Amino acid sequence: MTVITPSPVSSRTAPRASFEELARLHLAPRADECYRDEVLDLASWRALSEAGLWRAGVPRALGGEGGTWRDLALRIADVARGGGDLGFVLSLIAHAGLVRALVVHGTPWQHEHFLRPLLGGQVGATALTEPQGGSDVARTRTCAQASPGGWFLKGVKDHITNAPVADRAMVLGRVPALGRRDVTLFLVDLHTPGVRRGPAEALLGLRTSPTGAILLDGAFVPEAAVLGTPGEGLSTLYDVISFDRALYGLVISAFLEPELDRAVGFAQEREAFGSPIIDHQYVQGRITDVRIVIETARATALAGIDAIVAGDPEASLRCSVAKYVGSEGLVGAAKDLMVLHGHLGYVRGSHTRVVQDALGTLIAGGTSDMQRKNILNRMLAARRG
Ligand SMILES: Cc1cc2nc3c(=O)[nH]c(=O)nc-3n(C[C@H](O)[C@H](O)[C@H](O)COP(=O)(O)OP(=O)(O)OC[C@H]3O[C@@H](n4cnc5c(N)ncnc54)[C@H](O)[C@@H]3O)c2cc1C
Repeated sequence: MTVITPSPVSSRTAPRASFEELARLHLAPRADECYRDEVLDLASWRALSEAGLWRAGVPRALGGEGGTWRDLALRIADVARGGGDLGFVLSLIAHAGLVRALVVHGTPWQHEHFLRPLLGGQVGATALTEPQGGSDVARTRTCAQASPGGWFLKGVKDHITNAPVADRAMVLGRVPALGRRDVTLFLVDLHTPGVRRGPAEALLGLRTSPTGAILLDGAFVPEAAVLGTPGEGLSTLYDVISFDRALYGLVISAFLEPELDRAVGFAQEREAFGSPIIDHQYVQGRITDVRIVIETARATALAGIDAIVAGDPEASLRCSVAKYVGSEGLVGAAKDLMVLHGHLGYVRGSHTRVVQDALGTLIAGGTSDMQRKNILNRMLAARRG
């Protein structure tokens, strides 16, 4: 494994605009190497954490800067724009959802034992999916058995972003003793005895965002580490994943901005049929289509995040729209950017990497089918009043 030395970063909180610069300075130069080695750039993670990335949106009383979740989302988008590493940003999203979950639903004990380390550079994960399926999360087979002072957790989580390197996780399981409504969210210190991690999976793309299994073999979780109310895990979870879904839209938009800028430069330089290819209408169409993805993904994502901040009942629907528009739009944009570069776009490298990374966003964070299902379910629920 390659050891990457973090560059010195001020421990003061950086102003928002500088996160793009920090990502350009730390993340971008290492992105290719990390992709080749299939590792999360932990040095950049620590540098960004030290600069205060996670403190936006977190109340001052909990060690943050105040502000709203929109502020945190915009910072993560800045990292996407400056770093050019979509996998890394997806790892940030998995962590951001956990940070928000802890602030919104956590207790003082959880703030101390989970939020504080996650603000300071530890890595978080959200573990829902199991080998038998990820879309139907309520079918979880991970079980909690009561024991004095807490529970012993048994189960297997699969395909979990950051799992090979994470320190803390939110784990979905059930407490059969509770009866019919038994789905519960547990906060797990992944260094606890009884927790093992599988190796990083070999994925088509997003190789700087390691995914893997978390194996829980009687891991003890104290009573204080239930997030929200035991048995009410699903309603807490739906709130938590909405933010993640909107973030997908926002980071995809930001990630595409410099990609498009470079493509426009290429189209102005490259000549065919006696003029720069940008003069040809079909090429112009590809360029404007990518710009339309950037605009729509950004607008729908911000609408979703603003709805979360405002406590709008349409928040979940809007966040699913943002995830859908973002990931489906990214796949189309990646294809357009590749074709626009002709054979150079198909040589294994930065353009093919965008295509490979883009495809993963159709599945991570819930498939496009499940976003559509949620949109319809929310529409029907609103009609029922
Ligand atoms: C890069 C990456 C990162 C990931 N990170 C995480 C993570 O951090 N945490 C985590 O918990 N999981 C994570 N996952 C897993 C991901 O959430 C699941 O893969 C996803 O939810 C789909 O679950 P599944 O693969 O089990 O497919 P299944 O649930 O088995 O679904 C298979 C197919 O059936 C479709 N389908 C299922 N039910 C319906 C329905 N009712 N209507 C229409 N279509 C349906 C699905 O859309 C899909 O196309 C990650 C996956 C990837 C690829």
